[in-house]
Amino acid sequence: MQFIRLRLNGFKSFVDPTELVIAPGLTGVVGPNGCGKSNLLEALRWVMGENRPSAMRGGGMEDVIFAGTATRPARHFAEVQLDLDNSDRTAPAAFNHHASIDVTRRITREAGSAYRAAGGEVRARDVQMLFADASTGAHSPALVRQGQIAGLIGAKPKARRRILEEAAGISGLYQRRHEAELKLRGAEGNLDRVEDLLEALA
Ligand code: ATP
Repeated sequence: MQFIRLRLNGFKSFVDPTELVIAPGLTGVVGPNGCGKSNLLEALRWVMGENRPSAMRGGGMEDVIFAGTATRPARHFAEVQLDLDNSDRTAPAAFNHHASIDVTRRITREAGSAYRAAGGEVRARDVQMLFADASTGAHSPALVRQGQIAGLIGAKPKARRRILEEAAGISGLYQRRHEAELKLRGAEGNLDRVEDLLEALA
């Protein structure tokens, strides 16, 4: 599975529809201060399901929508689409019957985010899982932000281990284990309640 194209519309400084072709070998983006390099990386993380406003250089989630300038009015929505090439059929099972997968996230003021993948509406969790199973995602250490290298050098062993686990492709399994544990705890609670009822009836 390969990232092939990023399309932005109304996202941060990219008010007009903009396309970034992610050709093989692209490893970095350079340009003058303020030209939008960080916004491109944020768009990539955002479309993969980033949900922490703190991680998005701005206060609330709606701050990703073009806020307007002296000459252009603000927009009501922002949309980012990531096109994936799956001709090698390495996408996670739920999407693997598609040779190409387009993932879109759109946020509308006062209406929140909606996601689409491979032509259908999906939940944020489905998108996060698609990328986690492919060993990438909004928190992937492969997306290197400014200042992150210095942070990594000073990181604690536990944080470094998480990076290795991410590279080994097991972070999706952790998420599933966490969900299974929550379900198990719910089931145990139900069992306790049944036992109480049985005791009361005996
Ligand atoms: P630097 O290297 O200085 O960090 P950069 O190339 O990474 O620069 P970005 O941080 O990606 O640049 O872009 C910053 C620009 O995006 C600023 O001009 C900022 O005003 C603009 N910007 C950020 N959010 C919005 C928004 N919601 N609406 C309009 N413009 C925005």
